[in-house]
Amino acid sequence: MDTVMTITAYGADSKKAVKACEDEINRLDALLSLQNKNSEIYRLNRNKTAEASVDTLTLISRSVDANMLTDGAFDITIEPLVRAWGFYTGLENRVPSKQEIETALLPVGSQNIEISQNSVRLLNGACVDLGGIAKGYASAKSAELLEDYGIESAIVSLGGNVRAVGAKPDGTLWSVAIADPDDPSKQIGTLKAKDLAVVTSGGYQRYFEENGEIYHHIINPKTGYPAKSGLKSVTIASEDDCLADALSTALFVMGREKAEALYKKNPGLFDAVLVTDDNKILVTDNLRDSFSCKTNFEVITP
Ligand code: AMP
Ligand code: MG
Repeated sequence: MDTVMTITAYGADSKKAVKACEDEINRLDALLSLQNKNSEIYRLNRNKTAEASVDTLTLISRSVDANMLTDGAFDITIEPLVRAWGFYTGLENRVPSKQEIETALLPVGSQNIEISQNSVRLLNGACVDLGGIAKGYASAKSAELLEDYGIESAIVSLGGNVRAVGAKPDGTLWSVAIADPDDPSKQIGTLKAKDLAVVTSGGYQRYFEENGEIYHHIINPKTGYPAKSGLKSVTIASEDDCLADALSTALFVMGREKAEALYKKNPGLFDAVLVTDDNKILVTDNLRDSFSCKTNFEVITP
């Protein structure tokens, strides 16, 4: 999945459990990879119709749900755009021409995805990229596996996706650091967590610079350009890893106002920490006590 992953588990079978997670993540990677010619996603994108495993079907159907929930901000059919900007392994980053972006936008839209019992069809030449949600699925699967091995305390960290399994071995809560978007080696604050997914998306995670402009990897499906929504990063906290992953990407595209509106419209669905371009930190009500940071932050109430 093209990122650094760390799993730390405590308990009698922790070594076996971590190995099982590693195998599971490699299995999912082989299934969902855009590069591997034997992956289900590669075949689906090439043939436009394919029978799919339960994992792939679940992920695609959850992605379509997230597309509807976020009014199109999360959209796995952005594949041709991510490709045009060169954000895939083996490609070179570049600014595409207006014409290229218009062409790449043509098949974008989740209405081009048709799911039936055990197969998927892509219409109008669409291609899919599960990069915005796959790590969430992998962390949920890892948490399930760890629990199957009787692990009561673990931390799964897959790139920007963290999943706390239980609490720390001493019973106190995990403390998950949220990176400072201006200097990711530092943190803007921490979130206390137990049985919780904490997922961050930000332009700082993957980008290139051309003629003094920064272009990052999260694309606005409506414009075809990297999202410029006034946010530097979005962290979502939820018990649902996939939802947290899809929403962190989507809210980064939507920006502060639409993110707040989504939160108010769906009480209890998720919690969030937003960092704005002018370095304001906004935290949803539920996190008021579990979030700590050195500077002031504003609370978004339901
Ligand atoms: P994340 O790190 O979870 O925010 O996901 C970013 C990755 O998701 C990118 O590298 C792309 O592969 C993909 N992506 C980019 N923009 C979008 C979008 N608007 N909706 C869904 N996936 C996206
Ligand atoms: Mg995501």
